[in-house]
Amino acid sequence: MVIAVYPGSFDPATYGHLDVIKRASVSFDKIIVGVLHNSAKSPLFSVEERVNILEKATKDIPNVEVKPFEGLSVNFARENHAQVIVRGLRAVTDFEYELQMAQTNRVLAQDIDTVFMTTSLEYAYLSSTIMKEVASFGGDLSKFAPPEIIEAVKQKMPKDKQIK
Ligand code: ADP
Repeated sequence: MVIAVYPGSFDPATYGHLDVIKRASVSFDKIIVGVLHNSAKSPLFSVEERVNILEKATKDIPNVEVKPFEGLSVNFARENHAQVIVRGLRAVTDFEYELQMAQTNRVLAQDIDTVFMTTSLEYAYLSSTIMKEVASFGGDLSKFAPPEIIEAVKQKMPKDKQIK
């Protein structure tokens, strides 16, 4: 049984993340999405909210589980008996950082491999940050995330910026 963890901030999840989860769920027996609680960052959504959002968005994929975590991804992988860390690659700009992280994780844990899923072309531009930026100016979010997530983002925006 090959278990993979997919760690990230997911603040909040987008169609890009959901696409990676869906595709990874075909290649691995189990995917555990790890929602990072990072006290140094101030996310729009609390870790509980981000977990909740992802649980709802992945409810139809039976081999996906969502859990909060803190600290190193390799420790999260070990705690969950995972052999693989899944990350998404959108563009060359992601590559340098992701390669460095993967190599660091390899030094920390030789028994855990990082597997990269290349983004589907239609989501190559998409990030949680860009979605929040468009939301802050009242723009249309329908191409970025499912309706429930858009609703959650809208609730976080000041009243005068909310999209009808
Ligand atoms: P982090 O803060 O760890 O970068 P994110 O929540 O931004 O967390 O992303 C988690 C993972 O999902 C990363 O590997 C990132 O490259 C990947 N990812 C984000 N957006 C997309 C997308 N549109 N297509 C494919 N992968 C993506």
